[in-house]
Amino acid sequence: MTKRRPPRKFTGLDKHKVKSLPPALLGWFAAHARDLPWRRTRDPYAIWVSEIMLQQTQVKTVIPYWNRWLRELPDITALAAAPPEKIHKLWEGLGYYTRVRNLQQAAQVIVAQHGGVFPSRYEDILALPGIGPYTAGAVGSIAFNQPVPILDGNVIRVLTRLFGIAGNPKDKATNAQLWELAGQLVQAAQGLPGAENCSHLNQSLMELGALICSPRNAQCLVCPVRKQCVACREQRVEELPNLGKRVAVTARFFTAFVVRRQGKLLVRQRPAGVVNAQLWEFPNVETTGDEAESVNAARELLGVEPEQLAPLRTVKHAITRYRITLTAYTVTLKRAPAKVDGVWKTPAELTELAFTAAHKKLASAAAKSILSDR
Ligand code: SF4
Repeated sequence: MTKRRPPRKFTGLDKHKVKSLPPALLGWFAAHARDLPWRRTRDPYAIWVSEIMLQQTQVKTVIPYWNRWLRELPDITALAAAPPEKIHKLWEGLGYYTRVRNLQQAAQVIVAQHGGVFPSRYEDILALPGIGPYTAGAVGSIAFNQPVPILDGNVIRVLTRLFGIAGNPKDKATNAQLWELAGQLVQAAQGLPGAENCSHLNQSLMELGALICSPRNAQCLVCPVRKQCVACREQRVEELPNLGKRVAVTARFFTAFVVRRQGKLLVRQRPAGVVNAQLWEFPNVETTGDEAESVNAARELLGVEPEQLAPLRTVKHAITRYRITLTAYTVTLKRAPAKVDGVWKTPAELTELAFTAAHKKLASAAAKSILSDR
């Protein structure tokens, strides 16, 4: 059995290594980069939208959303002026809806303060709502080829492994070290022959993290920077990055009621200031997961005794550390509900509203059940 060496301390930037990496990364990226739609443009607006959509969301999911968004809202002015219902509908299913509201706010700032033209100065990009150092670096480098760094989960994984950085990337000092390293690499790339080196260097780090240096089963044998990689040499690939203890997962249970009346369904819009604000949903309550609670919950929510509760479907999903089970019932009422927190919509009208991902599944199940009853 090979003996493991003790973890090395990160001792500052190895200048020779920092210089040797960009040519290997750029060469690999030129040959292996995926042909993604946002890589065919230098329009900062289109690149910005892709970067925001890609936060917390996989590439294959984002592609159709990005294409549709650019078709419907082709520029900053169109986004700034779009009705909120439209942007929510275009974002429906992507989750983390604060992102889309910030996108529109930022577009409105660009119209008001930059004449509708996406700013190229890093500080101006960073000052926009919803844009942090990662997105500012991504747009600055990819759209304007500026030597500004990026640091996301993929880049953190690649850099901690390449340089054998054992500290937790969330710790202030380690985080600063990683930003510094990412900055040195993109600056080293700038000095090499080539028109888009800053853009391609940053993208190569993300792409390597996505395709080769994956969280589990990193493909070190085909990695273009294997020879320079500390983690590979010291067999520490699995232990880096050091992400500390995982946050405990919490189970939560919700019961939703699909109330039908004269071919219409009762839905409500989530208020401002809460998670998934302004999105639509069926009336629902949080429960302990005990099925017997459902009748009481329906009575409480609708102010009337349900005549019948029929199981419709159960949707399981996760939001941050919560594992959520949403159980939905079709409700038949003895009489019209005493209190109606919501509006009545036909199945066709439901398709025009933006629902949370879980409730969208309930909406399709409800629409199907209405059609099958006809
Ligand atoms: S050699 Fe392995 S661990 Fe190192 S960067 Fe490449 S894929 Fe990641």
